[in-house]
Amino acid sequence: TRKFFVCGNWKMNGSKKSIGELIQTLNTAKLDPNVEVVCAAPAIYLELTRSELDPKFSVAAQNCYIVPSGGFTGEISPAMIKDCGMDWVILGHSTRRHIFGESNEFIGQKIAHAQENDLGVIVCIGETREEKEKGITDQVIFAQMKAIADNVKDWNKVVLAYEAGWAIGTGNAASPQHVQQIHAKVREWLKNNVSEAVANSVRIIYGGSVTGGTCKELASQKDVDGFLVGGASLKPEFIDIINAKA
Ligand code: 13P
Repeated sequence: TRKFFVCGNWKMNGSKKSIGELIQTLNTAKLDPNVEVVCAAPAIYLELTRSELDPKFSVAAQNCYIVPSGGFTGEISPAMIKDCGMDWVILGHSTRRHIFGESNEFIGQKIAHAQENDLGVIVCIGETREEKEKGITDQVIFAQMKAIADNVKDWNKVVLAYEAGWAIGTGNAASPQHVQQIHAKVREWLKNNVSEAVANSVRIIYGGSVTGGTCKELASQKDVDGFLVGGASLKPEFIDIINAKA
């Protein structure tokens, strides 16, 4: 049995004030105890978030670099993320791939280095609208999976996030049928290329316009093990998404 996993990806949003208010909402909410909840804060607010958020929540960074320290202006390392008390990092988000030009290979290096530091990784995969229209979704996702699998040593510290690029930030989530189909294909890929045990145990979560309204039907799909939530994670509605299976 895979524990339901819900991560709020705040992206580059929030202020001390709004984050403080959101944390109060989360700390006092009635939550399904069978769900693992993570908040991914902007780097500059990670320590604030960690110190104010109840310890039952985990905190994630949204990115990291591939070496522990050195002349890499603007970057942060897994060692620093751990040093400040975080347990997770998001890697390979569609923002990183498509706005900042990160390749499968570079994301693979980040995964390998985060794993060396025993940091949990939430690794994103998914196709763009253009790739979907070209009919190459499977190819794109399997190439992303290969770059991931080549660099993972400990699958217990990996959560896979399928994000339909064409659904992110649109208000229109992918259909539960589409999401289930892709998640099943990813699990099948893991079975054929890693192991059956990993295929059965790795959590595959969905991202792309998940809301309080759409989360229940998505959560009822057999291979959907949680959500990566953008916009709605900044609102009280995030509580309803955490409780999608309750
Ligand atoms: P939205 O939930 O705002 O569509 O964002 C999804 C996402 O990219 C989460 O990482």
